[in-house]
Amino acid sequence: MIDFRSDTFTRPGPGMLQAMLQAETGDDVFGEDPSINKLEAMMADYFGKEAALYCPSGTMSNQIAIKVHTLPGDEVVCSNLAHVYIYEGGGIAFNAGAQVHAITGDRGMITAAQVEAAINPDDVHKARTSLVCLENTSNRGGGCCYDWDEVLRIRQVCDQHKLALHLDGARLFNAIVATGQDPRSYGRTFDSISVCLNKGMGCPIGSVLLGSTGFIREARRIRKKLGGGLRQAGYMAATGIYAMENNIQRLEEDHQHAKQIAAALLEKSFTGHMLPVETNILIFEVTGGEWTPRKLTDHLRKEGILTMAISPTQVRMVVHLDITPEMVAKTCQVIAETM
Ligand SMILES: *Cc1c(COP(=O)(O)O)cnc(C)c1O
Repeated sequence: MIDFRSDTFTRPGPGMLQAMLQAETGDDVFGEDPSINKLEAMMADYFGKEAALYCPSGTMSNQIAIKVHTLPGDEVVCSNLAHVYIYEGGGIAFNAGAQVHAITGDRGMITAAQVEAAINPDDVHKARTSLVCLENTSNRGGGCCYDWDEVLRIRQVCDQHKLALHLDGARLFNAIVATGQDPRSYGRTFDSISVCLNKGMGCPIGSVLLGSTGFIREARRIRKKLGGGLRQAGYMAATGIYAMENNIQRLEEDHQHAKQIAAALLEKSFTGHMLPVETNILIFEVTGGEWTPRKLTDHLRKEGILTMAISPTQVRMVVHLDITPEMVAKTCQVIAETM
């Protein structure tokens, strides 16, 4: 099967497995796991942040950040398509006791003007606005990358109104490779950043939360409360170190593969509107004739290709490191032969 359902379906290859076997470990709750300490230092340095915290999942690292930045009853400003809002099980309410002010943006990206308009006045009737969350790349936006000038304008609004700014960077490495940006510009701009290692980076589990020393101290406490303090998780952190050393630049290959598949799809009359393909995600409408997203995904499955119908009108495909050039060629051929 050629699996385009998500970039979470990757499995560790021989190099990554070898790194796990050779990992030095200790008890991370005591701060004594050398592999975790190394990964945290590596990530903090890469993004130019003071400190980092290894977390079991991106959901947990986002939720920890939101909990640290807010008090119960506060309001979090984000896109109506944000993962933190629609795909984390209501975690903002459950874990932080905060509520969301959701903004309808462009492909999950919001503007500084929209953020400013969403901030509540200092009035007892209103929830206290305390945090803005951005997502880069934007998952439901088809893997699109934020315009950096807009991010800087949002930072200014946050400074003016004393709001914290968190980045859900589940696919931040994809954005960095696609735009050629300096990772440290992210460290300078955001108060906290969550980056996933279990997506395009190809690790079986793991995310890293980045922030100031004080922020990470508090985040470590919340991670423990959530049951996310792991012991010899250095065996897993070793996959993150391996991915940092081997899997960043190769994301460019995934982006090229996504563009090849997009070109094949755009030849077909069943392909309706497709979101611009900027990184490794394709989201397109299926229209006309007898085709529906369900029928198309069923047809492709019979040909050995797994895709996902994500709405009554849209199909999503995600490219990742277990997708080879041969698989892309086969996929393009199957698409070309689909009538
Ligand atoms: C995958 C993802 C996460 C975190 O997911 P986990 O499966 O919990 O690691 C967070 N944000 C976005 C945008 C994602 O795509």
